Amino acid sequence: MAGFLKALTRDLEAPIEARGFGTGWFAGFFAILLGCVGLGMVLALRYPAWLGTPALAAVKNLEGFRPAIHAVILGSYALALISLILRPRKALGFTALILALIAGLLGGSGAEAREVHDWGIFFGLDFFVLNLVMTGLIFAPIERFLPHHAKQRLFRTEWREDLFYYLISSMMVQALTFLAFAPSKAVLSVSGGFAGFRALVGSQPLVLQVIEIMLLTDFVQYWFHRAFHRVPFLWGFHAVHHSAKAMDWLAGARMHFFEIAALRGVTAIPMMTLGYTPTALQIYIGLVYVYSSLLHANLRGDFDRLGRFVATPRFHHWHHGLEKEAVDVNFAIHFPFLDRVFGTYYYPAGRWPEGYGVPEKVPNGYVAQFLYPFRRKG
Ligand SMILES: [Zn+2]
Ligand SMILES: [Zn+2]
Repeated sequence: MAGFLKALTRDLEAPIEARGFGTGWFAGFFAILLGCVGLGMVLALRYPAWLGTPALAAVKNLEGFRPAIHAVILGSYALALISLILRPRKALGFTALILALIAGLLGGSGAEAREVHDWGIFFGLDFFVLNLVMTGLIFAPIERFLPHHAKQRLFRTEWREDLFYYLISSMMVQALTFLAFAPSKAVLSVSGGFAGFRALVGSQPLVLQVIEIMLLTDFVQYWFHRAFHRVPFLWGFHAVHHSAKAMDWLAGARMHFFEIAALRGVTAIPMMTLGYTPTALQIYIGLVYVYSSLLHANLRGDFDRLGRFVATPRFHHWHHGLEKEAVDVNFAIHFPFLDRVFGTYYYPAGRWPEGYGVPEKVPNGYVAQFLYPFRRKG
């Protein structure tokens, strides 16, 4: 902690040439500032007895106060990201991210409490147990009877790590829900109108809505995913997902917390803002949980024909392959035609990758992997 504060002060007091425009210093500084303001506003909402002076109570009741908290926290995230990308030292951007994350965890603008209520059972520990039991009940037996790697068992190497990832993302479902919906809320609050268009979208048959959501989110996901492969700083986060050396339904859970938050936030924008009905959204969210487990699952079946149209385990296993030809291919998670169109498709008939992982040494353990993107060199 002391070491971290030292790094932060040193970065804040960096020599003037390391502070100019384009070095990420201003972005980092304002990200921290907005992070503090956002956190203060959330605390004021949350603990009125401590922080709520009568004058503040009047401000809090203003109509724009909650949207303003959203804007402030989002601004802090955005600037922190810019700073992290531009700046070799990560202390400023990282501090701001932590501040904004705490503000989000404490409930953000307050929308999170309502959201969690709306989504019923999707909550913390219950969610973890339910999620694990449901997915495990589906996949553990079929991996046992129809395996691709026949010798691989349920409790293979690093299963504890992947289970811990499962636990964390389920326990943090509240924070993740907030982070996932915040960008969409911001888009909705500025776009305002288009009510007629949204009503039209929501009046389509349910199946059509779900298919459209799959297409839109996969398109957004494709470019997000591709950026996480091509931008070196972002790759540090995504390398964690690719560090899995064994593929099965549990391996998909291994993903850096910040990547999950960003991925969900960005992919949720089209599905949340265009007017799809809550039922369509819930079906899609359930489907994507099962589908992403399926893609990583240790399941046999070449599906040479089918795999050209919908993503299959073998299609995504190539994305995780160690071979040279498996580098930066198959970014789609639903529709391989996206990779065909954008020139990243690889699906050799009947062949599977020999091994999985990344050439670089990603450390073991949740904490070390959490810090990995910030410590990684080159
Ligand atoms: Zn990837
Ligand atoms: Zn994957």
